[in-house]
Amino acid sequence: MTTSIPADPLVARMRPFGTTIFSEMSALAVRTGAVNLGQGFPDTDGPAEMLAAAADALRGGANQYPPLPGIPALRTAVAAHEERFWGLTRDPDTEVVVTAGATEAVAATILALCEPGDEVVCFEPYYDSYAASIALAGAVRRPVTLRPGPDGRYRFDEGRLREAFGPRTRLVLLNSPHNPTGKVFTAAELGLIASLCQEHDVYAVTDEVYEHLVFSDAASPHVPLATLPGMRERTVRISSAGKTFSCTGWKIGWATGPAALVSATTRVKQFLTFVNGAPLQPAVAVALGLPDAYFTGFRDGLQARRDHLVAGLTDAGFGVLPSEGTYFVTADITPLGGADGVEFCRALPERCGVVAVPTQVFYDHQDAGRRLVRFAFCKRRSVIDDAAQRLRTLAS
Ligand code: PMP
Ligand code: GLN
Repeated sequence: MTTSIPADPLVARMRPFGTTIFSEMSALAVRTGAVNLGQGFPDTDGPAEMLAAAADALRGGANQYPPLPGIPALRTAVAAHEERFWGLTRDPDTEVVVTAGATEAVAATILALCEPGDEVVCFEPYYDSYAASIALAGAVRRPVTLRPGPDGRYRFDEGRLREAFGPRTRLVLLNSPHNPTGKVFTAAELGLIASLCQEHDVYAVTDEVYEHLVFSDAASPHVPLATLPGMRERTVRISSAGKTFSCTGWKIGWATGPAALVSATTRVKQFLTFVNGAPLQPAVAVALGLPDAYFTGFRDGLQARRDHLVAGLTDAGFGVLPSEGTYFVTADITPLGGADGVEFCRALPERCGVVAVPTQVFYDHQDAGRRLVRFAFCKRRSVIDDAAQRLRTLAS
């Protein structure tokens, strides 16, 4: 008997999702030899202590399955880190789970908490895996649009946020500091989100992978939503080692929160990957315990590179929007005659040898981001210089 495989055997709920823009743009960079300011990964290694600990663990035999929730040393380090920086106390045995990056933590939490047809309030542009995880759960996203205000800072409309909540809302998915805009949600914005979560009795899931990357000129410091009154008991807080310790390929993340929520996440997570990264887990535990100077030094170094890239983009004629944190800055292509970010980014390697990411692919209402593109500045200064020089040729 012959099997007939349809042209596209993929299930309908995943069909809207093609290859991620990050893969497409990184492949384009490799193919064309362009400077890759698209996908957000650093081009230097993380702290030496962490790398040495990983090598020691690997040679020391930490190569079999770690325990399902993560090795005790890492869970203890995650809890100590949350207490040190954010004043949140966690029981490492019941309120912390280690995941395969923040990506798995987000997916497992959404799959654990959303019934088909439940609604997830999020902000657009959103990190691309959110839409896919929501779709996998059979849930529905209710995005609220962030738009640059007169000062360039991204804001949302309070009325639109209120309207996004309804009887089917199950949770709010919040990313701050925010990829791709570089926005850091203010205390007032977080207060409004917290009050709506409580009014509608819904969960919050917070993606804080850029928790240590808020620059000195940001309008607000980073405040985890879980620290607001009434929020600890309804929030799953997610982060990962990738961004803070320049090891995006390690995929060691975690989720923290009340035991019942963490248990729900863990029960899904055990059937996605079960566990990952045995020799990397002790190394991340070491990194989380580094002195404050590591965290501030990393942030200050990144801020200097942000300033450098912003100067280059401004010189090149882009309408650069303020970035208060993360690895990224967004820019309007209108002053350069651009009208569509996807077309612009696909042509950019040919035109000047640089790769960027169009942000419209992170919106449901794509018009809101049509003219915006994202550049990553988590690169060596010489690479940013090279890119800036190439981009300057665009205007001529
Ligand atoms: N959330 C956001 C906002 C991100 O930018 C990224 C990319 N690092 C992730 C989640 C994924 O993190 P990880 O690589 O730890 O899965
Ligand atoms: N978080 C990275 C970014 O926004 C990319 C992660 C990925 O490639 N999936 O660029």
